[in-house]
Amino acid sequence: MSQRRKFIKQSLVGSAIFLPGVASAYTSSAAQRSVAGEKPVILSTWNHGVPANADAWAKLNETGNILDAVEAGVRNTELDLTNLSVGLQGLPDREGITTLDASIMTGDGACGSVAFVRQIKHPISLARAVMEKTPHVMIVGEGARQFAIEQGFPLEKEVLSPNAQKEYDKWKEKSEYKPIINIENHDTIGMIGIDANGKLAGSCTTSGLAYKMHGRVGDSPIIGAGLYVDDEVGAATATGLGETIIRICGSFLIVELMRQGRTPQEACEEAVRRLVTKSKNIKDIQAGFLAINKYGETGAYAVHPGFNFAKATASGNLLIDSNSHFKP
Ligand code: ASP
Repeated sequence: MSQRRKFIKQSLVGSAIFLPGVASAYTSSAAQRSVAGEKPVILSTWNHGVPANADAWAKLNETGNILDAVEAGVRNTELDLTNLSVGLQGLPDREGITTLDASIMTGDGACGSVAFVRQIKHPISLARAVMEKTPHVMIVGEGARQFAIEQGFPLEKEVLSPNAQKEYDKWKEKSEYKPIINIENHDTIGMIGIDANGKLAGSCTTSGLAYKMHGRVGDSPIIGAGLYVDDEVGAATATGLGETIIRICGSFLIVELMRQGRTPQEACEEAVRRLVTKSKNIKDIQAGFLAINKYGETGAYAVHPGFNFAKATASGNLLIDSNSHFKP
């Protein structure tokens, strides 16, 4: 929050004309409207996205590699001691244990993820190691911790951060188990980016739902739910109550809608509409999506007001309020 910069309200619904039904092919539909994208562009969820984008942008300039950029960006958030939903300082499960989920993906289909992992400061880098050093996509729990040790990741002490301990002690007074995510209690970082040559990558990392059942895994490490990237089309990422996002394969859905000709904004709105239709108690549930297409056009949409995201381009790194299905 200390890094909070300029707020700008902006509707991301472009003035572009989309002709439904005319174009089954993504490229031909884009050819029929004016495309207003720019590259490179990096998007990430919530206001911690601003410093994360800054690190990602610096890494992109340094190595020219969009995968390095999205890894470096969210590593910033994984270290942010003020953040209660990402990294080892995040809020624990109902047993008082912090477990982390993360995923990473590039537009050529390479991907890796870890879930329900303990004592690892940078689960995003562990997810990258799964992608690059194993024949697998996902490694969880004790297996993920063992793999981390083999890969030389240091094991951190298993103690709650002072802030997380305070919140957990407060929660224990009633121990109410309500798997809901409202406007205040979520903060996962999902980041997607495209470089100047059109190569895409994304990353997503979280300590998940506060006071979850031990072993619960959300959308963030599930390829297609919390994150999906395809160089032929674009990328999407999600934040919010993971169960609702998994049910609609949220990020994959958005990429497939873009493949069929929707703009990133239209695709995010359709995903939210579907999530709202399929969820009970929607008034207590927040979820938000971000998308980029291969032209560098962007979209964002949430269930409720309150979702914001950071957008970095050559002209700056701005915190933007997303539009939402339910209006303020
Ligand atoms: N999506 C995350 C989860 O369900 C939570 C969040 O975005 O805050 O684990």
